[in-house]
Amino acid sequence: MHYDYLVVGAGLFGAVFACEMNKQGKKCLVIDKREHIAGNIYTEEVLGINIHKYGAHIFHTSNQEIWNYINQYATFNRFVNSPVAVYKEELYNLPFNMNTFSRMWNVKTPAEAKGKIASQIADLHITDPKNLEEQALSLVGTDVYEKLIKGYTEKQWGKPCTELPAFIIKRLPLRFTFDNNYFNDLYQGIPIDGYTSIVEKLLEGVDTRTGTEYREFIKANEETKEITFNKVLYTGMIDEYFDYKLGTLEYRSLRFEEEQLPECDNYQGNAVVNYTEREVPYTRIIEHKHFEFGSQPGTVITKEYPAEWQPGDEPYYPVNDERNDALFKRYEELARQEKNILFGGRLGQYKYYDMDKVIAQALIMVKEQREGSEE
Ligand code: UDP
Repeated sequence: MHYDYLVVGAGLFGAVFACEMNKQGKKCLVIDKREHIAGNIYTEEVLGINIHKYGAHIFHTSNQEIWNYINQYATFNRFVNSPVAVYKEELYNLPFNMNTFSRMWNVKTPAEAKGKIASQIADLHITDPKNLEEQALSLVGTDVYEKLIKGYTEKQWGKPCTELPAFIIKRLPLRFTFDNNYFNDLYQGIPIDGYTSIVEKLLEGVDTRTGTEYREFIKANEETKEITFNKVLYTGMIDEYFDYKLGTLEYRSLRFEEEQLPECDNYQGNAVVNYTEREVPYTRIIEHKHFEFGSQPGTVITKEYPAEWQPGDEPYYPVNDERNDALFKRYEELARQEKNILFGGRLGQYKYYDMDKVIAQALIMVKEQREGSEE
């Protein structure tokens, strides 16, 4: 059997790429080491509720083209992410907005909130924030930083905020309005049939093999010569592909503890509750039914524990600091020298991409491949 592309990884990037290539008459074989498709956006039904098996995924984008694209494969509900943060006995709305500030300082107006922040950072003289701590302090002041950011961030990333890049905290909106929407994007929602169904539709008509690890597959195929292919799209870790020969890129891992609570209909009243103090070992508890306004009996919750990553563990987040980004560039250079290998997705491109960016990048790669083959 001959394929144009061997796609390694049946996650969102690989599935979009394979789907588009298939439409253009290019044959793809998609393999994934897991026993299921959909990578980390995999959802599975438990107690009649779609469970986000690898952490909460809320689709959001401002890109009309990407929104239209994903809507070909799903219908989205009206979910708006509005997490709650628990710090000791206190409860705050996220992202940082007038509800947060009024609870923190008993202020009523934006001017009062801004005045409070200004008075807290006046002595710090931060003009050009060089790390996450300076960035956070200059945006929200010391109280919000100490209660809602420092502990959460340091357990999430396993490093002091002074050693983390500032951009991470800029993912969160900061507003002086009473608006608890976690995202600023124009479009947002949860796919009504879950994310796995999106990937199933993307992979319709594409040969797909789960439980198939890349190296083992290549090795076995060298003997049987069952399959030939022109190019590989690899959506796993780029450093792993190259046997870590230039050194290891850093990742952050996660551990999930799922609990079924058939006797409890509503555990926490919200889809996402963050635990921002350092001493609580998990960062958040997800109650899946609230992503879908579920009214079924019982509930399922997942506690998310950040974890150190070591080779062999599941990588979830690239750690995009200077050292790692520089090392990634060297791997990219290696990739350029090799013919017929492409890298895509959060792991292959070593970028903290959200789902919409993953789709956008996959579509760019599709276009490049088409243009390349027309030359
Ligand atoms: N963050 C925080 N407190 C919170 C939630 C988020 O300080 O209660 C910071 C933290 O540094 C985190 C970053 O914001 O790493 C990005 O959070 P986001 O929710 O975007 O992370 P993701 O959902 O991608 O894990």
